Amino acid sequence: MTGHDGATGSGLELREVAVTFGATTAVDDVSLCIEPAEVVALLGPSGCGKSTLLRAVAGLEPTDRGTVRWAGTDLRGVPVHRRGFGLLFQDGQLFPHRDVAGNVEFGLRMAGVKRAGRQARVGELLELVGLSGRGGRRVASLSGGEQQRVALARSLAPRPRLLLLDEPLSALDRGLRERLATDLREILRRTSTTALYVTHDHDEAFTIADRVGVMDHGRLLQIAPAEQLWRRPADEQVAQFLGYDWFVPASALGAARPRGAGPDDVLGLRPESLVVDADGPIIGLVVDRHRTRGGTGLLVHIDGIGTVGARAPGTAVPGPAARVRLRLEPAVTAVLPPA
Ligand code: ATP
Repeated sequence: MTGHDGATGSGLELREVAVTFGATTAVDDVSLCIEPAEVVALLGPSGCGKSTLLRAVAGLEPTDRGTVRWAGTDLRGVPVHRRGFGLLFQDGQLFPHRDVAGNVEFGLRMAGVKRAGRQARVGELLELVGLSGRGGRRVASLSGGEQQRVALARSLAPRPRLLLLDEPLSALDRGLRERLATDLREILRRTSTTALYVTHDHDEAFTIADRVGVMDHGRLLQIAPAEQLWRRPADEQVAQFLGYDWFVPASALGAARPRGAGPDDVLGLRPESLVVDADGPIIGLVVDRHRTRGGTGLLVHIDGIGTVGARAPGTAVPGPAARVRLRLEPAVTAVLPPA
């Protein structure tokens, strides 16, 4: 498997973890490490096993095989509340009868932190999540986004050694989600929080994480820094999941193939990978076209390659059956090893 990390002895280490429910293998031999202060996102379609994996790390789901270690210590038999991990779910599950401060200080109270200490920490955290001075607010009077900020503050208050986040933004609408994702990244960085973040949303995963893992059918297909995952997906399955729709032999592009791609490699193309350009080295025949947000989307036939997507920027819209010149955008083209 690509990205089968070496043991570190610090941070989180999963070795060949499997979780089954009857005949369903929800998590299938997953190995991965998270270094201290690193944020890893697991990305995958619904049902791929990402929540089950997160729950297994939390201690909420027993594992059938494999080991979960923190700083080299096997966590088998260690109950949820003794793992020192924080949890944040889609619905932050705030206590409705406590005010904002009462929610944030909850874990500190449980840990026996004295009142003055709690107050200072609550102030710090509310500032961190952008809710300074709102400690006295009733949680029911907050918007969904504000409630998730409070839930984040609450989960960070006891300084968890690992924060586990399961789709924490998915109940919010798109614009808010994007803003909160950026803020969350900043907050995790600033507090050097080690985190495992589970989501089905590509943008969220790439915004938040240092490394992104792609899961399918319980397996971790690849885990890598965002840039590497985009540019060098391990295989067509990962590439397709990331939005690459067409796969062509690099050799078919001759001299136009991107730098770094060997003649035996395969190129993964998205609709934005080929762009109409009067000086482009590739010649295509327009088969179909449709309007997109930033111009016109085309289907073009290229000799030796077949029919692939392309994009015509601005107003220069080629008509049906037009011959067009195209260039490849290497930044949005993936290079895959030979199949
Ligand atoms: P989603 O984003 O929809 O929650 P997921 O990727 O997090 O999906 P899981 O919730 O981990 O996926 O589920 C993985 C598989 O395990 C699915 O086939 C699911 O039906 C099954 N599963 C999960 N929890 C249980 C359970 N408690 N009992 C039986 N099967 C379960």
